[in-house]
Amino acid sequence: MTTSDIITAPAVATPEVASGAGCHGGRETMVEAAKAAGKSDMLARLEADYPRGPHDQPQSMCPAFGSLRVGLRMRRVATILSGSACCVYGLTFTSHFYGAKRTVGYVPFNSETLVRGQLYEDIRAAVIETAKPDDYDAVVVINLCVPTASGVPLDLLPKQIDGVRIIGIDVPGFGVPTHAEAKDVLSGAMLRYARLEAEEGPVQRPRGPNQDLPTVALLGEMFPADPVGVAALLAPMGLGLAPQLPSREWRDLYGALDCAVAAAIHPFYTASVREFRAAGRPVVGSGPVGVEGTATWLEEIGRAANISAAKIDEAKARALPAIQGVLAANPIKARVTVSGYEGSELLVARLLTEAGAEVPYVGTACPRTEWNAADQAWLEARGTHVQFRASLEQDVAAMIDAKPDLALGTTPLVQKAKELGRPAIYFTNMVSARPLFGPAGAGALAAIVAAQTRGADRFSRMVSFFDKVGTGDSVGYGATGAPVPRRKKPKAARPVDDANVPIGV
Ligand code: SF4
Repeated sequence: MTTSDIITAPAVATPEVASGAGCHGGRETMVEAAKAAGKSDMLARLEADYPRGPHDQPQSMCPAFGSLRVGLRMRRVATILSGSACCVYGLTFTSHFYGAKRTVGYVPFNSETLVRGQLYEDIRAAVIETAKPDDYDAVVVINLCVPTASGVPLDLLPKQIDGVRIIGIDVPGFGVPTHAEAKDVLSGAMLRYARLEAEEGPVQRPRGPNQDLPTVALLGEMFPADPVGVAALLAPMGLGLAPQLPSREWRDLYGALDCAVAAAIHPFYTASVREFRAAGRPVVGSGPVGVEGTATWLEEIGRAANISAAKIDEAKARALPAIQGVLAANPIKARVTVSGYEGSELLVARLLTEAGAEVPYVGTACPRTEWNAADQAWLEARGTHVQFRASLEQDVAAMIDAKPDLALGTTPLVQKAKELGRPAIYFTNMVSARPLFGPAGAGALAAIVAAQTRGADRFSRMVSFFDKVGTGDSVGYGATGAPVPRRKKPKAARPVDDANVPIGV
């Protein structure tokens, strides 16, 4: 297709949405506006893929960050946002905070360009300007809340321009519950595009040497050492690793689709799994954590890849004693609650439990899916309460109720725990920054649990030392007491030399 083939979009947007409603504008208002603007099918798809939880707004960061991050981490992929300036400011800030080192494209709008449909034309122009085959394999455009609710029709963008693929996705906060699932929105859209390309004819193979082995494609962002460890677990079965998803390069998508088995390590990649299944690939859930988790996972992967029972047993015999040895050498004697929004919470809880920890509660912002059902059953059989789509309020209540020696959780949960004098660490920075799988994962958590629980009495000393500083009326820098009420501004004008009128009131 050439740029001259591009179809002109209809005018879009209702005035109330154009006036700036966002995640503060009310979910129902935005959903109704999106449906009226022709996005009913898209919303139905999102609702089926990412069922909603108890709260009607995401409680973690803007969901679109997940899609943006996936795009920004890929080579030769440009990512363009279409949304309100405040949303884009927050998203670019967060991207660079997490070290994106990449340009975030932005197509701004105002009420008039939105209502008249000019925004679509501006997006189309930006895509045409960006889609240079020397620079990019693909251009991703992400509709945020207001353009989605206004019906900006990214599906009318050309599918490719001079060989550069164009991927337009809607990632509204009122349709995608977490930024974790937003990673799947883009991964699934790209995988679908790549699958259709592969069905039409030869495609590029991934970089690196040819791999003759049948492979396993891992779904989910992982600590960099984990894929290496998983490769070692698979090697005795004669299996290699396919490129991981979310991928780092467009051509990796073909390599992932070419796997023998897809492993849904993170359980929320619903759209991506749909593409693997459409390509005829079996999908296995859970992950190789601890002794029992690793044994089951190797069996299921081996069976799905038609590996002989003898080879599966060989893989287990190589891995399990080593994991058992590390767990025995690094026992965890603590009560730990786990809360997070990354999708690996149940796997972390399994590992903690096998290492000897008592885990009364696991809360995850992600939904229950067929790929974490076995982990849920394993944990519940050992007395752990598993809360899917957990709200912050549920996580905090569980932490208060369970009185853990250590709480692993999100930033607001950690803050609440520390206010109560309880050791707590941030899941993303501390837990996800360590290996989880195989022998390396078996010893990684013990060290942080021991280090944090050792200093438990320090937290209660800090609570008594600060004694309500920074709470209530003393919140804020330099605040030392209850606010002093300002005098009311006088109604009538007074002489300028009236000393009773404070300057600047
Ligand atoms: S795009 Fe994100 S920040 Fe903006 S209104 Fe939607 S959910 Fe809120």
